[in-house]
Amino acid sequence: MLNLYGDRGNIIALTKRMEQRGIEVTCDKITMGKTFNADDYDILFIGGGQDFEQDVLLEDLKKGKDKEIKRAIEMGKVMLAICGGYQMLGLEIHDPLGMEGGGRQEGLGLLPVHTTFTQEKMLCSSVGATLQLEGPFADLSNLDIAGYQIHMGQTTLEDGMPFCLLTDAYEDGCVAGTVMGTYLHGLFDSVPFTQALIDMLLARKGMTGVRINAQDRAARREHQLDMLADTLRTSLDMDLVYRILEEGI
Ligand code: GLN
Repeated sequence: MLNLYGDRGNIIALTKRMEQRGIEVTCDKITMGKTFNADDYDILFIGGGQDFEQDVLLEDLKKGKDKEIKRAIEMGKVMLAICGGYQMLGLEIHDPLGMEGGGRQEGLGLLPVHTTFTQEKMLCSSVGATLQLEGPFADLSNLDIAGYQIHMGQTTLEDGMPFCLLTDAYEDGCVAGTVMGTYLHGLFDSVPFTQALIDMLLARKGMTGVRINAQDRAARREHQLDMLADTLRTSLDMDLVYRILEEGI
């Protein structure tokens, strides 16, 4: 239900990169009404969606899954949340202008952030680097990351909280212990970040793994464009194309 912005792609990216390293991955979807046992998982993930779904799912989480999520965190399991999921893990979601039904909803309180809905929708791409992170995510510090944001809610850290994800963009995310929330959809296209996360997960299980030199998406796109250009060059009369360009025929 929280895959409106393709956040399940994060799970696919993680799974594929793990499998490339020869690591077997089991992934379960814990949707509404389902229960889960935190002992069975190394990482929990929650994506983004519409506010209506978020409201419904928050209610569902509060029927018992919240306790299991908290138990997972206490055991040192890693949790990642994107956009709507990030908002749900915060302290509260407030809609003073009634943009999405109005009112205030308590979040799960796993991240020290408040979200307020505003009239303006944030639509942007974000490119930067992770800050110097302390604690379990320390090895994910100072890595180039890129993604895009699309949300009405504005999320602010509680005063003095030093953790945010991107340099120069304090609203982009928050880290507390083994929980990371961020507004960046498409984050796992950032290969060094994803690799560092996998290394972190493996280390927590006492495993080591060799990094596979996976091609990143931008490089792949460039390669595909080069192939297309080569095909065009061999299929077209390029002298004539340049003459048309230069002489404006
Ligand atoms: N519904 C939330 C908002 O608009 C989250 C959207 C999202 O997950 N991209 O703020």
